[in-house]
Amino acid sequence: MTTAIQPQPGILDIALYQGGTAKIAGRDDAIKLSSNENPFGAGDLARQAYMRAGHELHRYPTTDHAALRAAIASRFGLDAGRIICGAGSDEVITFLCQAYAGPGDEVVYSQHGFLMYRISALAAGATPVVAPERDRTTDIDAILAACTDRTRLVFIANPNNPTGTMVPVSELERLADNLPAQALLVLDGAYAEYAEGYDGGAALADQRQNVVMTRTFSKLFGLGGLRVGWGYGPQHVIDVLSRVRGPFNLSTTQQDVAEAALSDDAHIARSLAENARMRAWLAERLNAIGVATDPSHANFVLARFRDAAQAEACNAALLADGLIVRKVDSYGLPECLRITIGDEAACRRVLYTITQFMERQA
Ligand code: PMP
Repeated sequence: MTTAIQPQPGILDIALYQGGTAKIAGRDDAIKLSSNENPFGAGDLARQAYMRAGHELHRYPTTDHAALRAAIASRFGLDAGRIICGAGSDEVITFLCQAYAGPGDEVVYSQHGFLMYRISALAAGATPVVAPERDRTTDIDAILAACTDRTRLVFIANPNNPTGTMVPVSELERLADNLPAQALLVLDGAYAEYAEGYDGGAALADQRQNVVMTRTFSKLFGLGGLRVGWGYGPQHVIDVLSRVRGPFNLSTTQQDVAEAALSDDAHIARSLAENARMRAWLAERLNAIGVATDPSHANFVLARFRDAAQAEACNAALLADGLIVRKVDSYGLPECLRITIGDEAACRRVLYTITQFMERQA
């Protein structure tokens, strides 16, 4: 049916986001390893805060997120006045595109970069520009070569999703130093906590006028369903983003539960330690049975098969055994499966099924 009512240019180029499969029909015992969630769920302190949150449902939340920002600032050693909170870091990415990129502007990111960069750029009317990777890692020279006098935003997820690979801080510094003057570098640290010794880009965002960091409560803090993320950067950027942000974008529940999660040291320590242990375990054993993995600094591994058909067949075998992992065709990686690091039992089940599968392939 033709209609004169049309969206803004670019909107119809957005492919609908395909989230990770959540369930297998008829199987209550399925294990979901498709969305990089914390296998231990939310911590006790967050759960308790959630139970308390029902008391004031009729009241509007605070608009300035002051308590949550103060808690984030104190945990990460940052300036609370330079933090902005959003409904997931997705929303902060959206604010950045709304505020800085419009028609005629370009938004640069790496091949196999997170899908939201393209969605948010197109939604803002801007043009997405993809820079090629090198060795399945973001290539800073390629990013710089992709920049023009129309580049307004450059997004780098570090560690990257779905590859799990990382760019060293020295390379990020070189990028920040050499960007065109009108461009803002966004360091997406959704998985930063899992990368040992990495601050997520905090020091760079603290010191440079052209660097912003985004972070999330969805991964390490186990709150993917709550939808809370945040950004940190130079005051001039935070002041701009605050104008775009809806005044009540986070409910009281979102603010209170996220704040509680920040102080749950025991849950954070256990989640980090188990992820590091099982990530190394799974990668090593997958490699030993002939399935390559990229060096992961996140809470998932990207398993690489001979070709797309083999990856698809392995995915079917995993589903038949009640294991849901993530196909990454939409990232241009049809020969790969992204597997969230589950608890030990889940990792053992995954390894067992893939081992059986590979033996049938031999
Ligand atoms: N950045 C990256 C690289 C991600 O993988 C994700 C989640 N898949 C996000 C940002 C957004 O996470 P959230 O909106 O849950 O904070």
